[in-house]
Amino acid sequence: MTTAQILSQAREEKRTVLTEIEAKQILDEVGINCTRTVLAESKQQAVSISEEIGYPVVLKVSSVDITHKSDSGGVKVNLADGKAVEQAYDEVMTSCRAYAPDAHIEGVSVQEMAKPGTEIIMGMIKDASFGPVVMFGLGGVLVEVLKDVSFRIVPIEKADAVDMTTEIQGKKLLEGYRGNDPADVPFLQDMLVKLSDFVNATEGIEEIDMNPVFAYKDGAIVVDARIILSA
Ligand code: ADP
Ligand code: MG
Repeated sequence: MTTAQILSQAREEKRTVLTEIEAKQILDEVGINCTRTVLAESKQQAVSISEEIGYPVVLKVSSVDITHKSDSGGVKVNLADGKAVEQAYDEVMTSCRAYAPDAHIEGVSVQEMAKPGTEIIMGMIKDASFGPVVMFGLGGVLVEVLKDVSFRIVPIEKADAVDMTTEIQGKKLLEGYRGNDPADVPFLQDMLVKLSDFVNATEGIEEIDMNPVFAYKDGAIVVDARIILSA
């Protein structure tokens, strides 16, 4: 589905939360690289999609009622074969039904398993006085503990994106640290500009959360994405 179709379908259903699958479809259309992510509505379908994507895969609960998928036991990574996918499917369903008995679960998303990289977060929130702002930071423990993030008002240009990636305290981690690969910072800056351009051109987006993005020596990939529409 196109971005326009996804947005109008959500409006029709009076939904403000998009699924991860929908969010990644929209970001893909914007030119932001996301892990391949496909909905499976049954265990058999989860296996056949996994074979098509190629192992290892990741399985995640797909439900607009469950936004924190790990908290509900709804994320299984590094599944190596069909047997592992079948078992993961059952475990995800059992624990999500227990965690959120009233949630409507449409199925699971089957995803390509991204190789590890430097964990980044990017997103957009609406500030009460400034309107839409884009955000960039280091993911994982660093962002949770240190809130090491940088913000700019939309629209941004490349020079603003350069400032955002250089003003965070942990910027050394982007340069490669203790034998880790450096992150492709120019690629991340382009992602920020694409995000800003999209937000600037599109009505009715309240919040975008890409957490995590894995950054590599060459390129980066969005591993989890959430989009909230304005009410
Ligand atoms: P949550 O809703 O809990 O934020 P995520 O989709 O972010 O769920 O998944 C939790 C964690 O699982 C991620 O932070 C990441 O480390 C790992 N993960 C999720 N999807 C993938 C993927 N496609 N490839 C590799 N790792 C993944
Ligand atoms: Mg996440």
